[in-house]
Amino acid sequence: MRSFAFSRAIDFASLPERAALSGKSNYVAGGTTLLDLVKLNVMQPGEVIDISRLPLSEMSERADGGLRIGALVRNSTLAWDRRVRVRYPVLAEALLSGASPQIRNMATTGGNILQRTRCPYFRDNISPCNKREPRSGCAALDGYNRSHAVLGGSDACVATHPSDLCGALAALEADVIVRTQSGERRIAFDDFHLLPGSTPHRENVLEPGELIVAVELPPPHAGARSWYLKTRDRESYEFALASAAVILRVENGVIKFVRIALGGVGTKPWRCRAAEALLEGTIPSPEIFKSAARAIFATARPLAHNAFKIPLAERVLVHVLTLLLKDQPAVRHL
Ligand code: SF4
Repeated sequence: MRSFAFSRAIDFASLPERAALSGKSNYVAGGTTLLDLVKLNVMQPGEVIDISRLPLSEMSERADGGLRIGALVRNSTLAWDRRVRVRYPVLAEALLSGASPQIRNMATTGGNILQRTRCPYFRDNISPCNKREPRSGCAALDGYNRSHAVLGGSDACVATHPSDLCGALAALEADVIVRTQSGERRIAFDDFHLLPGSTPHRENVLEPGELIVAVELPPPHAGARSWYLKTRDRESYEFALASAAVILRVENGVIKFVRIALGGVGTKPWRCRAAEALLEGTIPSPEIFKSAARAIFATARPLAHNAFKIPLAERVLVHVLTLLLKDQPAVRHL
């Protein structure tokens, strides 16, 4: 393993500035992504700054009825919080669908948003990979690409975004709160992650040294039900082949409000605005659900081994919409 400088931040004083100046700094909190990738030699930080002692582990009510979640709140803490389970079931279920209990006990909210792709060519440190080594090529395009994206890919990268939490945050229209060198800025969740384009190594809009300090949820939509459903190759400790986070309110037999984000199929958490627009104002039916699902994939670009994701994701979405039409599913008790 390569050596790197290590320090521990105890307050915010000049932290983003210091990290930006050092050039090759990485923050570490739970360590569930960074330490793996350092051990694999996929990431080679010059400096690792431990932020786990910063006061970012609180959750608090917002004045408007929403919820502020500190960046260091652990995934398991968030999933089991009563406010989350009652008011944002889609979020609790997404968290409990991810990783393993041990990893959820370590992984943080901020780190989950920043987790790197599970593309095997990215992690093997041998294959050409534009994300790991810009302009080196993409082994997945002509390789085994069963787990890769059908939406949002480019000729440079087709890696899926792996997070379950992020699908729920996209559907909930959360904001990411970031500490910068001059203060704080707020980023709409759907604007936070970037499509790969010709620069897949750039995965989000954070500038060097900037630090996620919180995620803020708007108040839950009155009268709405919400849910997250994930399909994968095995029931536990596995990434999504296709998943759907949905918030739905039906009033007097008409869809008044719907928010949809898909996971496992896109190069970023995939918010489905066109399908939402198609559904809102209609009378719910299997046919309209299927039409909305098909609309999402009208621009899909399947690869040699992942075309199955399109009908799979369509069925997942139709299933969640159908479930929510009948009732609010109960969040699991693992
Ligand atoms: Fe690398 Fe992206 Fe290609 Fe995977 S899909 S090998 S992450 S460039």
